[in-house]
Amino acid sequence: SNVPAITLNNGVTMPQLGFGVWQVPDDEAQSAVTSALEAGYRSIDTAAVYQNEEGVGRALAATDLPRDELFVTTKLWNSEQGYDTTLRAFDASLAKLGLDQVDLYLIHWPMPSADTYVDTWRAFEKIYADGRARAIGVSNFQPTHLNRLIELDSAVPALNQIELHPRLQQSVPRAFHADHGIATEAWSPLGQGGDLLKEPRLTELADRHGKTVAQVVLRWHLQLGNVVIPKSVTPSRIRENIDVFDFELSGEDMAAIGGLNADARLGDDPDTM
Ligand code: NAD
Repeated sequence: SNVPAITLNNGVTMPQLGFGVWQVPDDEAQSAVTSALEAGYRSIDTAAVYQNEEGVGRALAATDLPRDELFVTTKLWNSEQGYDTTLRAFDASLAKLGLDQVDLYLIHWPMPSADTYVDTWRAFEKIYADGRARAIGVSNFQPTHLNRLIELDSAVPALNQIELHPRLQQSVPRAFHADHGIATEAWSPLGQGGDLLKEPRLTELADRHGKTVAQVVLRWHLQLGNVVIPKSVTPSRIRENIDVFDFELSGEDMAAIGGLNADARLGDDPDTM
């Protein structure tokens, strides 16, 4: 496929565009992931809490693609934070996925009120040292949470997966990540497909480029350097969302989308979740 790779801070490469499966029921995950693999996606983003690791695993078992061409991410759920619980939860995720190694394992939320993400990170380092995750990272971490991990004199997270779309552009976290060699991955990159895709300034840009609004928004992320993981269960949209490598947004186009920021979250606030 023609998806560019980004290099993580430990040298591992990952596709800049992947396939998200939040809210895909387990019994639909196999066909959705199979459609994505057929369309050229090689990176799949799931999580224990999505309850579809088994369906994802069935698609991975059924494909003829070699394992080393696939990039599989899963996440540790909040209730399992802590050293021993993390190791057990990771074993359970691997078993459900039918894999002996994931490419990327993420702490799903920092949950600062529980104050267990440092112990959890120690377990992640053990998983990494044992070669059972090729890279380890976090999700929904604010710079203050990242700083505590960075100060530990241990592995800096390879990546932080955060809510990021034109209405929540996250300039402060993005700059922090860039300063520390942490890749930025955008969740809900299409703003969950709601009103954002009807925004007149985006429909105008899409018409001008002969692309859809979803494609323009994904292109904006890619040109910023974000990793993106759009979700769809509709094969035509799955194909549409990876067909973003035959056009380019100008500096003016990028600035126009930059002007849509409203610091508007769709999901939970990481400081209070
Ligand atoms: P998204 O921004 O990818 O939007 C998906 C929705 O947009 C679809 O359900 C569909 O309704 C619509 N859509 C998709 N393609 C379209 C197209 N081409 N044209 C028109 N509409 C289209 O939202 P998401 O699923 O919330 O986020 C993507 C992935 O990010 C998730 O599947 C999951 O893997 C990850 N995620 C992670 C977290 C986290 O806390 N780490 C939270 C939310 C999502």
